[in-house]
Amino acid sequence: MTQTYTIAVLAGDGIGPEITEQALRVLRLIETKRDVVFDCKEAEFGASAYFSVGKSFPEATIKICDEADAILKGPIGLSHEESEKIPVEERPERGALLPMRRRLNTYANFRPISLPKGMAHFSPLKQEVVGEGIDIMLIRELIGGLYFGGKERGEKEDGTRYVKETLDYDDKQIRQILEVAFKEAMKRKKVLHNIHKSNVLISSVLWNEVLEEVAKDYPEVQVVHMLVDAAATHLCLNPGQFDVMVMENMFGDILSDQGGGILGSLGLMPSACMGPDKAYYEPSHGSAPDIAGKNLANPYSMIGSVALMLDMSFGMEAEAKAVWTAMQSVFQAGFSTGDLSKPGAGVEILSTSEFGDKVIASLEGLL
Ligand code: NAD
Repeated sequence: MTQTYTIAVLAGDGIGPEITEQALRVLRLIETKRDVVFDCKEAEFGASAYFSVGKSFPEATIKICDEADAILKGPIGLSHEESEKIPVEERPERGALLPMRRRLNTYANFRPISLPKGMAHFSPLKQEVVGEGIDIMLIRELIGGLYFGGKERGEKEDGTRYVKETLDYDDKQIRQILEVAFKEAMKRKKVLHNIHKSNVLISSVLWNEVLEEVAKDYPEVQVVHMLVDAAATHLCLNPGQFDVMVMENMFGDILSDQGGGILGSLGLMPSACMGPDKAYYEPSHGSAPDIAGKNLANPYSMIGSVALMLDMSFGMEAEAKAVWTAMQSVFQAGFSTGDLSKPGAGVEILSTSEFGDKVIASLEGLL
């Protein structure tokens, strides 16, 4: 019997529509090769939604997301100057992204930092540091901490302006993300790097206490504790020591972008945001206003997000693997994209749609 999955497709802002178009081509091809239908419902989200209907997370989009089996989301946001034109509460992150994460309770963000051997030359790190490639699963807590805590802004009696932002966590929130991380470590090399800042933050002290409790259920997993500042250095100097990393929300936001840096581009960074009932999939990066609308963006992150969705929401592991193989084969054949290579470097640089064409051609033979 034909299996139907409903997908809410939120193309977003900036490069979002261009890279989403390529990702949807992959789903369409899989439909022709398997007994499956992806019922894609497109909906507005982010700054484009604000300018169209006055809300960055409109009611119609909420309904489509609520009814979907999974959500595929492009990046949202504008340049600093353009963002200033939107009221603070409706700006894409505050008005759309964080409310969606809270609504769907997507507390576990999987951000693969992966550069297979045949793509290792894209890393800005020395080849002896990259070795056989990079393969890290960064797990970020996504709905707690500073981004979701109380916020206050005011003025003191002497006229000094102040802000106060609260870093909130409780042991339940910490436990649920650590459970995810230990389970992931069990599936991989059984080494878990716990990234924290317990020398300064009591939130990290509680985090580490809970970790000791959870670790008892996973005696085979070796835990390596590392301060977040040191982790930033180690990611550059010796990425090969990491397999699964787990950390709170803001640390994960920053270190995962650094992860994109050691790969060579944020364009290689897909992600999965998992909740108990629903998941959404998005590139880790933003809307890249500097290259939007020019057919220059690398769609790897968005097509990779589709691969994660196939695997993690629909159990289509073989198809997901084929998508990764197809994308990597394009780079292994000697092609590149504008974020990874400069013109004149002796490689053919593909546009967004040309990369999509080659992925589709390769995937045809793999499915
Ligand atoms: P960005 O991630 O959009 O871009 C940083 C750099 O990486 C730019 O030079 C950009 O061209 C490049 N880049 C990113 N993705 C690429 C791709 N797929 N292909 C080629 N190059 C790529 O970060 P920014 O410029 O700081 O932010 C732009 C907007 O995105 C802001 O409004 C920000 O708030 C928003 N943002 C949204 C999300 C999200 O939707 N989850 C995440 C981060 C930033």
